[in-house]
Amino acid sequence: MKEFLQAITDIIAVFFGDAPERPRTPQPLPPALPPAAPLPPVADPNEPQDAGEVQASDDPVVVSHEAEDPRVTDGHEFDADPLPPPSEDTSIELNNGDTPGPVNPGPEYRARYMWCIDNGHGSLTAGKRSPVLPDGRQLLEFEFNRDVARRIFDKLDDLGVPYFNVIPEVEVGNLLLERVDRANRLSSALPKLFLSIHGNAGPAPSLQDFTDDSVRGIETWFYHGSTQGRNLAAVFQRQLIARTGFKNRHLRSKVTGQFYVLRATRMPAILTENGFYNNRFDLAAMLTDEFRQAIADAHVAAILEVDREGI
Ligand SMILES: [Zn+2]
Repeated sequence: MKEFLQAITDIIAVFFGDAPERPRTPQPLPPALPPAAPLPPVADPNEPQDAGEVQASDDPVVVSHEAEDPRVTDGHEFDADPLPPPSEDTSIELNNGDTPGPVNPGPEYRARYMWCIDNGHGSLTAGKRSPVLPDGRQLLEFEFNRDVARRIFDKLDDLGVPYFNVIPEVEVGNLLLERVDRANRLSSALPKLFLSIHGNAGPAPSLQDFTDDSVRGIETWFYHGSTQGRNLAAVFQRQLIARTGFKNRHLRSKVTGQFYVLRATRMPAILTENGFYNNRFDLAAMLTDEFRQAIADAHVAAILEVDREGI
């Protein structure tokens, strides 16, 4: 009877253009939502994204020397000998004399980690380019990073090493949140590691000026306080120096204001800075096929070493 009266009321309401708002029978409430996952730290659009944006006035940068760290005693030797100052000759300084052998996983290779490999920037990233050379050549950092990453992917495909290409799209900007989010959301049976590949830039009056000749070399950044991140960075830095003969700028980490891709990724994460594209010596090498392949080979050798020995 009650439902019949309700139906009559609803029909009259419709007749007068007043649609019934109440459901005729109570609907069950939707199940309670699970508690929201904690949001990653917010990326400030003005914060440094890589070492090229770290200012001298920022927090002190910690330069880590393996020999001074009592926690690192597991054979991750780190060659801290300074290289001679740059010569006037801008030829490539690849360390061809005792370059380690070809990258080979060996017959007993077993995948241990899922490598989330990030190319740092997209074609829409502002700045981040070398001065234009008299012959018209110019290095764009996003193109350098992606060329190195592609060479790494090719090798990992051949070797059967599992990896995740975090940002395959080219026409993007910095996309910091997405880089981190994709890696964090990736479902993997293997524990994940994050590797971000970059070229560096030193202080210069403008994009068309070179930085000081002494500002050059390779450095690897890790999340301050992360022992696993530090161990991971040590393997990459050692392989990069051994395979290029570039100036060793060691491991680096900031106490505060750490790069978003290092502090918001929920996995050990490092960022390699593979030469200064606004140093006229480093740039000469970074424009060549040979150097890019050596950088890629060093990353692959480090990946295989970490897969073999763990961090
Ligand atoms: Zn960069």
